[in-house]
Amino acid sequence: MFECVKDKVVLITGASSGIGESCAYLFARFGSHLILTARRKDRLEKVKAKCASINPDIRVYNAELDVRDSESIDRLVESLPQDMASIDILVNNAGLALGMNHVEDNTNEIIDTVIDTNVKGLLYVTRAVLSGMKKRGKGHIINIGSIAGQSGYPGGSVYCASKFAVRAITESLRAETANVPIKVTEIAPGKVETEFSIIRFHGDTTRAAKVYEGTEYMTGDDIAESVVFAASRHERCVVSDITMLATGQV
Ligand code: NDP
Repeated sequence: MFECVKDKVVLITGASSGIGESCAYLFARFGSHLILTARRKDRLEKVKAKCASINPDIRVYNAELDVRDSESIDRLVESLPQDMASIDILVNNAGLALGMNHVEDNTNEIIDTVIDTNVKGLLYVTRAVLSGMKKRGKGHIINIGSIAGQSGYPGGSVYCASKFAVRAITESLRAETANVPIKVTEIAPGKVETEFSIIRFHGDTTRAAKVYEGTEYMTGDDIAESVVFAASRHERCVVSDITMLATGQV
């Protein structure tokens, strides 16, 4: 079922932990060649080593990358080794939430960091990769949104705004690239147990643990399965979006 991703070149942002890391392992298992990007180089090296042990036949290229830095994104895409330069699938996964503040309590730093990463970063990476896909007349862009991009909640103003934007970008891009044709997908997870929650609460692990208390939450692997499912459909069809909730989550 997932075999269609064999030999595809896949660029994943935020591959150093959580959902992005799980995606790397699943794509590796099915024979994709990987460009793994994130800011934490040491963590990326570990992911690369595990990908190579899962599948010694694939190529894995690591790049330290901050998605807020559009110039380094452009430089990376232009300087990829020849056998990795034709990106077939882009997984726009890098993202974060900071605090769960009511509107009046959001600092400029929180607003700027979340919007710069989740919205502007996704646009920068997509723009850099898209021209190659258009030239080749094919490609697939998979954006990791969130159920926070479908309805707001108290304390969610900044993060929800960023994920509503991911949904808007996904829809616009699909319309813009319909004649190429490039596939565009949004995967919208509910609660997934990753480092995300710890970052959201500024390292307060007790508060973070409360988010996952009481119910069994999804894992990065659950979301990776949706990503690779979408990536491996026949050329004639595109998965427009998948929403994944933890069982019992409302
Ligand atoms: P993690 O914190 O485990 O992973 C986030 C990833 O994003 C890390 O690899 C991190 O890498 C990367 N990242 C963050 N900021 C930047 C940046 N400026 N430049 C490059 N990479 C960056 O959390 P998740 O795996 O849960 O999050 C992945 C995506 O899933 C996010 O877009 C998140 O919004 C979304 N999501 C998560 C949910 C959840 O409950 N966990 C629910 C719904 C959506 P590094 O720090 O090394 O740069």
